[in-house]
Amino acid sequence: MTSEHEAITERELAAAIAGGEMVVHYQPKIDLKAEAAWHNIGAEALVRWAHPRRGLIGPGEFIGLAERTGLIRPLTMFVLETAIDQVRVWRENGTPVSMAVNLAANLLTDLRMPDQISAMLEKHGVPPSSLILEVTETAAMADTVRAMDILTRFRLKGMGLSMDDFGTGYSSLLQLHRMPFSELKIDRSFVTQLGEAQEALVMVRSMIHLAHDLGLSVCAEGVETGVALKILRSLRCDKAQGYYIGRPA
Ligand code: C2E
Ligand code: MG
Ligand code: MG
Repeated sequence: MTSEHEAITERELAAAIAGGEMVVHYQPKIDLKAEAAWHNIGAEALVRWAHPRRGLIGPGEFIGLAERTGLIRPLTMFVLETAIDQVRVWRENGTPVSMAVNLAANLLTDLRMPDQISAMLEKHGVPPSSLILEVTETAAMADTVRAMDILTRFRLKGMGLSMDDFGTGYSSLLQLHRMPFSELKIDRSFVTQLGEAQEALVMVRSMIHLAHDLGLSVCAEGVETGVALKILRSLRCDKAQGYYIGRPA
């Protein structure tokens, strides 16, 4: 068996988090409503493991294990701290952009999180409105009562909330209306099909209209071509993210 296929153990992952082997990459997000064709408004923080032997390992290989073992908490705290400090640096260089950080489902029941993240923002001198917490549709809908409580606390503290991977879960229109999200992120499975499949166009158009009718801003993820970007502009999508615009780096 090659080293690429070695199973990652909880101990290895814990050691990597504590030992500083985790790195954060940033993927740019542009504003499609701006005058300029390419107006950078923010970035999404995406974690990677810089493994000493195996090289860079993507989150798909260890986030699940982190969630099952509770290591997701220290891992997320590390990503938040790193990303918030990066916002501070960008702001000091005259670039006041927002930063999106992914929050796993099981952290949506942790009532310590809103205060701890607030304190972290304060420590780095970054306004809460510069941070957007991304929660997947599936996570938000798993325990709607608890999720609603904690999400409301984040919003009251002034942070943005984005529903990630929208279109892949099962939220009802009523839940969507009640949940305090500020942004909806269209899943890339729809966006990558733009310009190729008619169904994708119908779905993306409906999701953009739905977001706007609910008073939410909408971001398309997985923009891989100029054609997809052009279609998104014509559909009045607010923001876009994807390899065509910039890879995580
Ligand atoms: P996500 O939050 O939906 O992040 C977007 C994923 O799509 C990223 O994959 C990104 O590299 C990829 N992507 C961006 N543009 C394109 C594109 O044009 N085409 C395609 N095919 N893919 C694109 P990545 O970095 O592998 O992350 C996968 C997932 O892992 C993320 O999905 C997120 O759910 C999770 N994740 C990443 N970092 C963290 C973290 O710090 N904490 C938690 N809890 N989850 C994380
Ligand atoms: Mg995300
Ligand atoms: Mg996503």
